[in-house]
Amino acid sequence: MVSPRDKEGKKELREMPLNKESRFRFRCHPGMACFTKCCHDVNIFLSPYDILRMKKRLGVSSEEFLEKYTLSLIPEASGLPVVLLKMREDQNKACPFVGSEGCSIYEDRPWPCRMYPLDQRETNGEFHFIAQSSFCLGMNEDREWMVKEYLADQGLDIYNEMQNLLGKISSHPRLSKEKIRNPKVQEMCRMALYDLDRFRRFVLESRFLQIFYVEKEVAQKIKSDDLELMKLAHRWLEFGLISGETLKMREDILRGKESSKSRDRL
Ligand code: SF4
Ligand code: SF4
Repeated sequence: MVSPRDKEGKKELREMPLNKESRFRFRCHPGMACFTKCCHDVNIFLSPYDILRMKKRLGVSSEEFLEKYTLSLIPEASGLPVVLLKMREDQNKACPFVGSEGCSIYEDRPWPCRMYPLDQRETNGEFHFIAQSSFCLGMNEDREWMVKEYLADQGLDIYNEMQNLLGKISSHPRLSKEKIRNPKVQEMCRMALYDLDRFRRFVLESRFLQIFYVEKEVAQKIKSDDLELMKLAHRWLEFGLISGETLKMREDILRGKESSKSRDRL
């Protein structure tokens, strides 16, 4: 049992690796003196699936959501765009969704808010505390959890499933060797990952479905199913960025490519 009540070695506690079987204490409720303090002045990176859930919850398009609630950044290491939740520009830098009663989008809150006070390392999947018990008083409560129970309770399975799709692209060694430098490619990646409504128009209104072989059932579903569309977006990016086998070009398009290559050689 890891006890965040330990007075000694708080730093060590934050650095201590946890696995799915590790135990910890935590309970959060409106009676806490620290209630909603963790929803201020914080860096929250949003995953594509976080944005899907949040924009649906708010009843806005992905374009409106990105414009109103986020900042887009391009990390130097990969060139693959990331999106940050924009805090209010007041003194307290509050999250736009926090109120006196707590989180107004609680059922659709993003991954980092579900994980808190835990976090997970991208490198090896280990868990660790991101908060200190002197700040997050819920870590001093008596409710005991096994890490895996906590993940299930927070509804993280679908978030992790979708994050794994992105991880196949963002963690691929090819991306660290060949950073995305072309701003047009960066913008296409941003659209496919985070701006799902625009990506839908791109797929349905361009030659996308003539160029790529997309299963009939999938082509039908993506007209209204955001999750299916998001899966297709990841397949397209994996195909384009790291030459994955996730999509196939139609034979006639490939033949056209080959014959134009032959012509170019003449
Ligand atoms: S700081 Fe911890 S206990 Fe306090 S509101 Fe946030 S999560 Fe809950
Ligand atoms: S989304 Fe909700 S839980 Fe997360 S920081 Fe904002 S108000 Fe807090």
